[in-house]
Amino acid sequence: MSPAAPAQSLSPRSRRIAPSPASVLRRRTADLRALGRDVIDLSSGDLDFPTPGHVIAAAHAAARRGDTRYTHADGTPELKDAVRAALARHNGLAFAREEIAICNGSIQALYNTLLATLIPGDEVIVPAPYWAPYLDQVRLADGAPVVVPCPQNNGFRLRPEDLSAAITPHTRWLILNNPVNPSGAVYSEDDLAALAAVLQDHPRVSILADGLYEHIVYGGRRAPTFAEVAPHFHARTLTVSGLAKAYAMMGWRIGYAAGPAPLIAEITKIQSLTTSCASSISQAAAVAALSGPQDLLHARAVELETRRDAFAALINRCDGLACEAPEGTFYLFASCAGLIGRHAPDGRRLATDRDVAAYLLDAADIAVLPGSDNGLSPYIRMNFAHPLPVLAGAGMRIARACAQLR
Ligand code: PMP
Repeated sequence: MSPAAPAQSLSPRSRRIAPSPASVLRRRTADLRALGRDVIDLSSGDLDFPTPGHVIAAAHAAARRGDTRYTHADGTPELKDAVRAALARHNGLAFAREEIAICNGSIQALYNTLLATLIPGDEVIVPAPYWAPYLDQVRLADGAPVVVPCPQNNGFRLRPEDLSAAITPHTRWLILNNPVNPSGAVYSEDDLAALAAVLQDHPRVSILADGLYEHIVYGGRRAPTFAEVAPHFHARTLTVSGLAKAYAMMGWRIGYAAGPAPLIAEITKIQSLTTSCASSISQAAAVAALSGPQDLLHARAVELETRRDAFAALINRCDGLACEAPEGTFYLFASCAGLIGRHAPDGRRLATDRDVAAYLLDAADIAVLPGSDNGLSPYIRMNFAHPLPVLAGAGMRIARACAQLR
């Protein structure tokens, strides 16, 4: 706590949350690198691919022609139309312009939604393992996250019976991430239809469908979004996605929400008071990404699949680690159960996956995200969106560090 901000001056809201685990690790990794350590960062949510050249050209052009003013709070008409076209093309979904809001990343679309809809005491069902910010976003919005464990032997997917058991009169949202960060699990149409059948009897529960990794799926699979499977839930489904992962545009900060116009209007109202709008330059770039050639989506997924297979093989050779090749995303979610209870050369005992992550950083200069930050232990999440030689080096260091445990 900095001296400028004594604890008693902080709001209860701010005190009940923590910075996102990934942002803390990103800083830690940068600090270690500044000290001269050669850290391989497998903890982030970045891809190593560049943003496509035609997208960067469109951003230049936008800046030069003077697209440098505030846009409408809900985004430029051009980008809204490009999002509508993408939703029609990829998901077969039709939305009107007033059913789309452009936000500063999908993270803001999610947060604005929770702020706009939760009343104190409302519950939000979050299947675990989960993307950590969901929980603190819910808390910031005065809601209560209800975490439902989805263990590996359920394919890390939410089962209808577990959803049914988690619903109470206070449940307001179910957050459904497909494909799932961090496990890489993919819900099929049948999986989603079975969840929809449960929700049929609970009209107060809405579905927040986060499809940020929808284009990163392997083996010819598709990751459908909930609205495709349950069009009759239109009034209570919000489809959220963004450009960060599909087009390697993490730092451009463009995401969107698509759903019923009254909810989109509330999301927009909150945005108009918090960030005014998404960056005009980034919005112009996003139009180029969504309207330009789409073959790079498939080409990149194919490249990532090769890396997935190579890295999964390396990790499965590490004594004490075990993983299955994920069906989507660019994360390996590896069980480290075999390392728990072992001792490092300096004598310290690895009691949790947090200890395993700390040991890998100290002993091997490898940054990973502990599963406890994703709500399921003992696991570690490793990003494999790195060139093959980097993955080979990382695999070697991890193997060596595992072998040194007793
Ligand atoms: N949802 C999931 C599941 C994510 O992993 C992330 C980022 N890693 C986000 C949403 C937010 O991404 P962005 O704001 O960059 O669109």
